[in-house]
Amino acid sequence: MKEEICAICGGEKVDSTTSFTVDFNNGVVVVRDVPAKVCMQCGEEWISDEIASKLEGIVSIAKKQNQEIFVAKFGSYSLAS
Ligand SMILES: [Zn+2]
Repeated sequence: MKEEICAICGGEKVDSTTSFTVDFNNGVVVVRDVPAKVCMQCGEEWISDEIASKLEGIVSIAKKQNQEIFVAKFGSYSLAS
């Protein structure tokens, strides 16, 4: 079975997207359209390890831009590895 159950409320988790926001000293980084599992019942979100490490990469690039607000779209962001 591929269906996953929410550990918090027992609801069903579905594939969705979310926004990921990081505050730091000089500003804020927002990454949109991040793939995530979202509980249909309570709205809790889970991001996979793979997605999370890509997010970290985007955030570290964004911090170097030194902008007050940096908005990135997850899907259109490719990281040189
Ligand atoms: Zn839930």
